[in-house]
Amino acid sequence: MRQAGRMVAEVLALLEERLRPGVTTGELDRLAETWIRQHGATPSFLGYPPGARHPFPASICASVNDELVHGIPGTRVLHEGDIITLDVGVCYNGFHGDAARTFPVGTVSAEAASLLAVTAAALEAGQAQARPGQRLGDISHAVQTVAESQGYYLTRQYSGHGIGRQLHEAPQILNVGAAGRGVLLAVGMTLCIEPMLLIGTAQTRVLENEWTVVSANGALTAHFENTLAVVEGEPEILTRL
Ligand code: MG
Repeated sequence: MRQAGRMVAEVLALLEERLRPGVTTGELDRLAETWIRQHGATPSFLGYPPGARHPFPASICASVNDELVHGIPGTRVLHEGDIITLDVGVCYNGFHGDAARTFPVGTVSAEAASLLAVTAAALEAGQAQARPGQRLGDISHAVQTVAESQGYYLTRQYSGHGIGRQLHEAPQILNVGAAGRGVLLAVGMTLCIEPMLLIGTAQTRVLENEWTVVSANGALTAHFENTLAVVEGEPEILTRL
């Protein structure tokens, strides 16, 4: 899982380097898929979930502006001032890594910059609770406290998850919850914590492509995610370089 996580982080770094006005989300997807396959791994999201009527058709999720999660890469051209969430999953030697970041494209508004900073801070706060002896609710509560204290909203429809041989495993990791409640965390657990923040509403809707989730009010959204391992002391963040 360290190896898979490191690959995810390297792909995100590669994509960040290529981000600029004029680039299409489809170019980013092809770049990621090529890199992943060249390194002997497979993109976790392509064709997920197996057997579905409309499995995810690309290697990464690329969600622009009001798109919260599961944006499908394609011909969309990025513009100065956009924000884009890149969500990358890699399977290597049978184990998955999964992480997301929302990046600015060129110079963005103060509103966008603040949203990105608070979402990153919410992830950091959640991660800080991922220690043996803490409970799942401590993670949820920490994420919720950071986001809501700054006036942002959190979707209840999507959440973090356990990860390992499967991309999505138990437990579900909500972004809202009560401290001191839920599953007791123990050394060796591998988790994805992923705050998804909205402005002015927690409501979302799914586009006709049956994947892309957007804010109901059209406002900007952000999503940061890491895969981590619970170890003694500070958690080991597997998807950070
Ligand atoms: Mg995830």
